[in-house]
Amino acid sequence: ATDTETTMATPEKTPNQLKERTDIRNVAIIAHVDHGKTTLVDGLLKQSRIFRENQQVGELIMDSNDQERERGITILAKNTAVNYHDTKINIIDTPGHADFGGEVERVLNMADGCILLVDAAEGPMPQTRFVLQRALELNLKPIVVINKIDRKDARIDQVVEWTQDLFLELAKSDEQLDFPVLFAIGREGVAMRNPDDERVSLEPLFETILNTIPAPKVDMDSPFQMLVTALDYDDYKGKYAIGRITRGRITPNSSVARITRDGDISRQKVNLVFTNRGLQRIEIDEAQAGDIIAVTGISDANIGETLADPEQPEALPTIAISEPTLKMT
Ligand code: GDP
Repeated sequence: ATDTETTMATPEKTPNQLKERTDIRNVAIIAHVDHGKTTLVDGLLKQSRIFRENQQVGELIMDSNDQERERGITILAKNTAVNYHDTKINIIDTPGHADFGGEVERVLNMADGCILLVDAAEGPMPQTRFVLQRALELNLKPIVVINKIDRKDARIDQVVEWTQDLFLELAKSDEQLDFPVLFAIGREGVAMRNPDDERVSLEPLFETILNTIPAPKVDMDSPFQMLVTALDYDDYKGKYAIGRITRGRITPNSSVARITRDGDISRQKVNLVFTNRGLQRIEIDEAQAGDIIAVTGISDANIGETLADPEQPEALPTIAISEPTLKMT
């Protein structure tokens, strides 16, 4: 057998061998800067169960501009997870700046759907367009949220029309033109199916996420595989390699193969395994395909590398990347 044959990929699973993880949704949040992303995520956190359980998070609410900015960084620098009934919604932030290193594609790749947030007065802006284009290329299921409809200068109908025009221009299929549109005042923690509906809570948005964004369909029984999509670091636990588990499962202290972008394989050991709960990272005993996790112990991990079962070290395709910027948060 040739090398190619010996390292041949596991045959594609037929759909009936895939499990639908109805307990998870992975959703990216896309917005032009200042269209209200941080405020909306804050509202989702407040209204999810986790927030109620965790009074500490409530104490983070701050007043001055500086503190608000700091809080924004806290929320969105790391992935956030909110619970709605029995479903964990992983909220994946997308970088708000122009993309040089394929960062947008990389993080969008962890999601199955996206929330496109558009300011009701400003309408779609360059960053809205840029990231939406990437999201549609990756076939993410979109939800449009027209935000800040309380603004005096809101022009809701026109902004809806502009947003629809943007989709008409960017959509890759007719199916992508069929998306729900919600209306929100993120600052008041309300979302509505129609602008004139009673303003109660963000529940319509939670419901729309559950009903519109597909649950991950994954193979939990094949060998572990995950693409390192982001890195984080703290002095205490060292480097965190962050990504979505493509298949299989992982437990703390397991051996993994680290496959570099050049295809070099080394055997390494995962130390701890984390998922997100609210704004926190919590240690868990096992993580399964479909979830977004962080692992420690792989001190030389880089973005774009694959972590895999050492018995089946198959690299995941990476997106063309120039020099990635390591964000220390
Ligand atoms: P981000 O840059 O997308 O994260 O936006 P922020 O959440 O930081 O919001 C930007 C500004 O818009 C802040 O001054 C918010 O207070 C304000 N804002 C957020 N949501 C609303 C809203 O629903 N209505 C109005 N009028 N302002 C909002």
